[in-house]
Amino acid sequence: MKNLEIARVFMEIADLLEIKGENPFRIRAYRRAAQNLEGLTRDIAEEAGKGTLEGIPGIGKDLAKKIDEYLKSGVVEFYERLKEEIPEGLLDLLAVPGVGPRTAKLLYERLNIQGLDELEKMAREHKLKDLPGLKEKTEENILRGIQLIKSGRERMHLGLAYSLADEIISTLKSLPEVKQISPAGSLRRMKETVKDIDILIVSSRPAEVMEVFVNLPLAGEILARGETKSSIRTREGTQVDLRVVEPECFGAALAYFTGSKAHNIRLREMARKKGLKVNEYGIFKEKSGQKIAGKEEADIYQTLNLPFIPPELREDLGEIEAARKGNLPSLVSPKQIRGDLHVHSKWSDGAHSIEELARAARKIGYEYVAVTDHSQSLGIAGGLKEKDLLKQIDEIGTINRKLKGFRLLTGTEVDIRGDGSLDIADELLARLDVVVAAIHSGFKQGKEKLTKRMVRAIKNRYVNIIAHPSGRLLGEREAYELDWEEVMREARKNRTALEINAYPQRLDLNDIRCRQAKELGLSLAISTDSHTINQFGTMNLGVATARRGWLEKKDIINTLPLPQLIKKVSKPV
Ligand SMILES: [Zn+2]
Ligand SMILES: [Zn+2]
Repeated sequence: MKNLEIARVFMEIADLLEIKGENPFRIRAYRRAAQNLEGLTRDIAEEAGKGTLEGIPGIGKDLAKKIDEYLKSGVVEFYERLKEEIPEGLLDLLAVPGVGPRTAKLLYERLNIQGLDELEKMAREHKLKDLPGLKEKTEENILRGIQLIKSGRERMHLGLAYSLADEIISTLKSLPEVKQISPAGSLRRMKETVKDIDILIVSSRPAEVMEVFVNLPLAGEILARGETKSSIRTREGTQVDLRVVEPECFGAALAYFTGSKAHNIRLREMARKKGLKVNEYGIFKEKSGQKIAGKEEADIYQTLNLPFIPPELREDLGEIEAARKGNLPSLVSPKQIRGDLHVHSKWSDGAHSIEELARAARKIGYEYVAVTDHSQSLGIAGGLKEKDLLKQIDEIGTINRKLKGFRLLTGTEVDIRGDGSLDIADELLARLDVVVAAIHSGFKQGKEKLTKRMVRAIKNRYVNIIAHPSGRLLGEREAYELDWEEVMREARKNRTALEINAYPQRLDLNDIRCRQAKELGLSLAISTDSHTINQFGTMNLGVATARRGWLEKKDIINTLPLPQLIKKVSKPV
């Protein structure tokens, strides 16, 4: 399907138009169309064939023509012309915090800056501070932002790594020559960012598997090719290593290549004390060299008198001590999730109708979903006025009467204003099933003010959940400063849950904060913040983050069956 390709073209057109300073409505139309294409479950080429492109929300005559053009020729002339007018590197500049389209244009026109490297150089030489609207403080921010983007390029976020590995693994798995296959490394530990992808297999005919691997359509470059190990770099620049191991060593190799290094060092120390040696081939008696385990990963742990330690915990952050004492947590699993408590519909900036959301959620086996569109302060995200929210409550009621075995919950993602007040009146909040509150602006207020602001929202008796509590965006924006102890203490006192936002660039709270929250006795919600139905699938990334934070079923409110959940979020009267 070309849906995503075309969505990307529209997104870039919007950025380019923004740099040119064009009409904001026109820019928004491109963004909206791109998002609807991303969320479209049908093949765009089929729609074009049937002549029904204009039936897709946000696609008018003009955009339908551009889609047709792309499907026929592989290019959109208008887009190509824009790219000739504006150097492509300028688009990279927009990713730097503090650099909007106006600044990007200025940087280009006054200093002929056309990309990140030039911007970095100029900032270091203090050449930006004389530009109107840019101060020395901004230079510092710009340098920090560039650092963040560059580190983001070196490590991709888990969501990307996961789907890339999934694609490769499912292709290889379908080969009859592949007997066993598993990802390893930081991906298997589900770390929030991943540098390269490691895959292990057992195969009867390794050479043939390697042949398929190095010729995968996504392979851009072959870095190494051998009988037991090959490496490729994908077109997008990610290194993927494939290793073939003997069946009787698979478990040992899996443990070895999954790491972490620190965890494995601890295992080796424990083995040594027992007169044993662990390596990627198995566990051996040190004196005689006799092999005693290696086929199954669990056997390695068993030999050391430990229960199996889930990969997400293998960081040497206390998991070995807990395992020894029989205190390992029974980690929450994706199957235990019964619903999603943060989802956007077409009423604000989502791509689908409420009914479509409900049907898709029921199909994946959920019992409930809370519709939490933005509130009025978030004009750019189509935030709802109070009277529209009232209408939405009615519509949800109507749909609920039609649905069997599933319940839509009314809700909002209410904006926490600069002073910590909310932009929906308490009387209306009281009528909603689920109230999610979030900070979307004023990230630079400073620790004290931000903490106060957050705590005021937490104390509101109608707020159930604080969404994406740290505000970070991986590779783009650092978390804002908060006094976390204070925030978490108040959250517990007021029985407000904190969210683990599963959106791949957020994963917010992160693993460390999850564990801190658990230690302080808080409740958490794992939510996808979906803007399209496809994004429901990111729930597993949120669950992985929770697992890395040692969280169990009882810590997560959306593992509760509907009646208990309703009780949990019910409003005081
Ligand atoms: Zn939000
Ligand atoms: Zn949201």
